[in-house]
Amino acid sequence: MTVAELAGWSLVVLAIGFALWLLVHPWHERRRQRRGAAARLTPAQQQALADIAPGLPPLTPLLRDRLADRVAAFLADTRFHGAGGFVMDEACRVAIAAQACLLRLQPDADGYPAVRDIVVYPDAFWVHHEAPDELGLVDDEPDLLAGEAWDAGRVVLSWSDVQAALEGDPVNVVVHEFAHQLDFDRPDTTGAPPMDDYREWSTVMREHFDDLRETGSPVLDPYGSENPAEFFAVAVETYVQNGADLARAHPDLYRLLDAYFGLGTAGPSRSLDSGAGSPG
Ligand SMILES: [Zn+2]
Repeated sequence: MTVAELAGWSLVVLAIGFALWLLVHPWHERRRQRRGAAARLTPAQQQALADIAPGLPPLTPLLRDRLADRVAAFLADTRFHGAGGFVMDEACRVAIAAQACLLRLQPDADGYPAVRDIVVYPDAFWVHHEAPDELGLVDDEPDLLAGEAWDAGRVVLSWSDVQAALEGDPVNVVVHEFAHQLDFDRPDTTGAPPMDDYREWSTVMREHFDDLRETGSPVLDPYGSENPAEFFAVAVETYVQNGADLARAHPDLYRLLDAYFGLGTAGPSRSLDSGAGSPG
């Protein structure tokens, strides 16, 4: 076989492979959604969820039940991988799934369809990015990270930081990285989860982002002043970890986030039993 014939055949094989992928891919997607929707927590997973409940915001009975359903679906649909010597177990999977699903407790939310893989290191991990930043510059220095969200559907986490959030640390790396995943859901918007009408969201978020850059905040991490995407992730972290202080310091920002996520993190009187606004 000549080189030209070989190249021709390679193209034919590639084309057949792509056609098969197109046929199989939608089937795989439907199967993945069905599996998650039908999933129920095992007794061991229920126990793991009960064990970490004191580290989560207090939830109404309705939202607690919904969280269990969302966690079951998330566990059925997501692959977890230990890295750097970390050995994954059920308690770890449930702790990550539960914190991620806190952001998807709206009645019609459908989890994180794009997230396929979660990689967990025992501790903060070094990352060396060779991709240029928004200014076209490549940083030579590696970064020490507690978490990282890839728009290809992968989230990387440090287990010690996941645990710290459950023990009350104001930083919640799972919530932060999954807020980025919600942001990735609409490539044409930045600093917002998917929704039908962005007008109020844009006004309130822009005002508080500018305030954080100019004067700082008693509760929001200054890291949020990096850009609108980081502001959104930091604001959601604060809403989950420290809702009462956020409501006192920035009441309209709290109201905006609570209207979307519906957890009532500022206190029981603010809980929305009927769930939150539509995620769009
Ligand atoms: Zn971030």
